[in-house]
Formats: sequence, structure tokens, C-alpha cells
Amino acid sequence: MHEAVAMNPWAALAYLVAGVCFILALRGLSSPASSRRGNRLGMAGMALAVGTTLVTHSFASLPEILVAMAIGAAIGIVTARRIKMTDMPQLVAAFHSLVGLAAVLVAVAAFANPGAFGILDAATGHIHQVSRIEMGLGIAIGAITFSGSVIAFLKLNGNMSGKPILLPARHIINLGTLAAILLLIAYFVTDDRTAVFVAITALSFAIGFLLIVPIGGADMPVVVSMLNSYSGWAAAAMGFTLHNSAMIITGALVGSSGAILSYIMCKAMNRSFVSVIAGGFGTESGPAGGAAAIDRPWKRGSAEDAAFLMQQAEQVIIVPGYGMAVAQAQHALREMGDLLKKHGVRVKYAIHPVAGRMPGHMNVLLAEANVPYDDVYELEDINGEFAQTDVAFVIGANDVTNPAAKTDKSSPIYGMPVLEVWKAKTVLFIKRSMGGVGYAGVDNEVFYMDNTMMLLADAKKMVEEIVKAMG
Ligand code: NDP
Repeated sequence: MHEAVAMNPWAALAYLVAGVCFILALRGLSSPASSRRGNRLGMAGMALAVGTTLVTHSFASLPEILVAMAIGAAIGIVTARRIKMTDMPQLVAAFHSLVGLAAVLVAVAAFANPGAFGILDAATGHIHQVSRIEMGLGIAIGAITFSGSVIAFLKLNGNMSGKPILLPARHIINLGTLAAILLLIAYFVTDDRTAVFVAITALSFAIGFLLIVPIGGADMPVVVSMLNSYSGWAAAAMGFTLHNSAMIITGALVGSSGAILSYIMCKAMNRSFVSVIAGGFGTESGPAGGAAAIDRPWKRGSAEDAAFLMQQAEQVIIVPGYGMAVAQAQHALREMGDLLKKHGVRVKYAIHPVAGRMPGHMNVLLAEANVPYDDVYELEDINGEFAQTDVAFVIGANDVTNPAAKTDKSSPIYGMPVLEVWKAKTVLFIKRSMGGVGYAGVDNEVFYMDNTMMLLADAKKMVEEIVKAMG
């Protein structure tokens, strides 16, 4: 560390405590039962880190900083309160873009005024060479995170088609651009002139755009979590530039947890990380099997039929999906589960890792409705049970129950592990219409199976009617 910025030992201690709070926060967030405590610890750690920074640094204008923080906090609170659960992925993408932009702005400020950041080498009058590496990496990762997250936001928000946009020779262009960025960072270490700094920034903005544009909607969940990881590394790199250990710890935590989450999601969708990054997934997908399916016979059931079938059952497995979130049917669903339990029926909830539109989407909604955690099972723990189950109750899920993922090589979801609902004696399937498709845009063979009864209605209305019929 450069002597000019040797850290106040109390500040170092406070940052360390903040870091421990963040680690405990992540630990807490790993289970719904402890997630509230985890969140509070994270908030406490952040308050401590921000407070320490304010107390131990001399600022040009403290009021300006406080006003900026108040405006930011107000926007954050209003957005978080207003956002619909189903729009959460785009919000997360938008927030990541801000982290990336912040890293870029910090790098620009440090470059413009290295003396104030303690990175000026008094002997040469230039920025320390090691700081140039940190700065180069920080700005590159930050800019990639920014432009990549903006594209992810536009795709998830429907402002841009979710289809992959494939430029000719894109792999060569991308690899060439990445190589050019690395070479420029290396050159920046020997020559810190403004043109090099600007070139690194511009190319990094461009590569963020180029990397995400070819990635199709079906891979967006992985992309969002990957960008989350990048935003962490960008923050860590800037933490080195600012000699701020809290930022280094936080950045490393976000960077590595985002990378682990991306890995888990790739596994859940049976996709390799490299093939996600390379993009182009879902190009020839089309609605596979959809056209042929339109006139096929299927059975329609009523709320009364569903109530009767479930009350007779020994075990019912409930499979929630995106439609449950849209309809906000989780409270009615819990009520239905409670009534069934009163009838002596065993009720379990099966959660697919990518059900809904964000990781943990279903867990959050079920927890909000006070569904007992012990009734909630992960895919690998429950998939073996469908064959011995009387009723699989699918509520607004589609892709995550689609057998084409196992059998149809041309399907865009081929290879994704799915909940094998069709093995149950009866499948009750709630959706609004036969024409509506899920996220991947494909038809589902389960609709037309002999043991399936379609319950066509809004999920909340249908469950409320079932509850009434059970009464
Ligand atoms: P799907 O998107 O496959 O299906 C949703 C189903 O819900 C549709 O059949 C739709 O049919 C129905 N539906 C929609 N609104 C309602 C409503 N109000 N009432 C009743 N039914 C409704 O959802 P899944 O959860 O099965 O699958 C998730 C998909 O999203 C996967 O392909 C996954 O890869 C992808 N994804 C996941 C993310 C994650 O992190 N979890 C993020 C982004 C994408 P209808 O219109 O006829 O009602």
C-alpha cells in the first residue's frame, strides 16, 4: 500500500467487521428460514462500511454526498416497493448496470485526479504502475458489466427481442476485441496517456454489448447471474485502486457467489457455461412441436373435479411455476394445501431450480405465503416420488414439466432436468389457455396425456374455486 493512503487502523477494523457481516449475510440467505436475519446483517455491514468511509475521509462536500445518498435511497425504496415480483430479473439487471457504471466513474475520477486517490507516484509524476493494472481491469470489467446489463435489461423487459442476434464472424470479433483490451491494459502499464485509457473504456463498452446481444432469452437467467459476478469483480478491482478493504471483500463475495450461482443454473438447465457465453442458443428453436399439437385431444376439468380428486389422494405434489407468480396465487395455494392436510392428504411442493423468472422465485413466494419449509422439496429430492403420487398439481409451470427436455433433441429445452409430473396417477394442470406457451415458447406433451386434466383459468381464481369446492 502506498504511504499516502495508509489506512486508519480503526477504519481497517470496521471494514473487516463489515466484511464479516457480509459473509454472515450470505450464509443467512442460503435458507429461507434465516434469510431475514441475513438481509439485516447485510444492511448493518453496509451501514458500517458507508459510515466508516464518511467519518474517516475528508470530503470536498459532505452535504452533497448526503443529498446524493438520500436521492439514491429514495429511488431505491420506491422502486423496490413498486416492482412486481415477475419483473425482478430486469430490476436486478438494471442494478448491475449501475454497479458497472459506478466502477467506470470511479476509475475515471482516479485517472483524472490520481493525487487525491493516493495513486500518484511522486518520483515520476505518473500513476503507480500497479494501480494502472487495477484501474485497467476495473474499468474493463465495469464497462462490460454496464453495457452487458443494459442489453440484458432490454431483452428481459421486452424492449428488445429475446431472440439471439447473431453477427457474422462474431466469435472472431469478440475474441479479437477481448485480446485488444488485454493488450491495451498491458500497454497502459507502460504508458498512461489518456488515449489508451479512453480506448480501453470504449472497447470494453463495445464488448459488453457484443457478448450479450447473441445470447437468447432462454439463457438470460445465467447471464444475469454472470453479470452479477462481473459487477463484483469490477467492485473488487476498484477496491484495490481506492485501497478500500471493505470494497475488496464485498466485491470478491459478490464475484464468487455470482460465479457459483451461474454454475448451478447452467447445471440446472444442462448447459455448459462456455456454450452460454458463446451465445446463439435457441436460434433454430421455433415453437418445436407446437404447430402439430393444435388439434390434438385433451381433457378439461373443473374446480370441483380437482377438489374431489385431491381429497381422495394419499399424496399430492404441487408444482408451482411462473404463472403462479403472475396470478399471485401463493396465498390461495397455501390455503388449499392446509385444507388437504386436514383431510389427511400428504402435501409436498416441488421446486425446479429455474421455475419462475429468477433463482429462488418460487421459494420466496411460498415463504411469503407461510408454506412450511419442510413441505418444500428440490427437484432431485422429489423427482423419484411422482411415480408413487396420486396427483401432481401443476400451477402455472410449463417448461419445467416438459418431457421434451428428455426426449426431443430439437427442443430448445432439450437436456434440462425436468419435474417428471407425468408419472403421477393424475396430473392437474392449471394455465389460462391451451395456446399459451411458457418461456421457451414450446408446447408440452403433458397437456395431451391420458392422465392429465387441464384446468383452464387464472391460477388464483382456479385455486380459490377449488378451495370453495373443498369447503
Ligand atoms: P413457463 O414460463 O414455462 O410457463 C408459465 C406458464 O404459466 C404458462 O404455461 C402460462 O400459460 C401460465 N400462466 C401465465 N400466467 C398465468 C396465470 N395468470 N394463471 C395461470 N397460468 C398462467 O414457467 P416455468 O416456471 O415452468 O418455467 C420457467 C422458464 O423460465 C424456464 O424456461 C426457465 O429457463 C425460464 N427462466 C427462468 C429464470 C429463473 O431464474 N428462474 C429466469 C428467466 C427465464 P398461459 O399463458 O396459457 O396461462
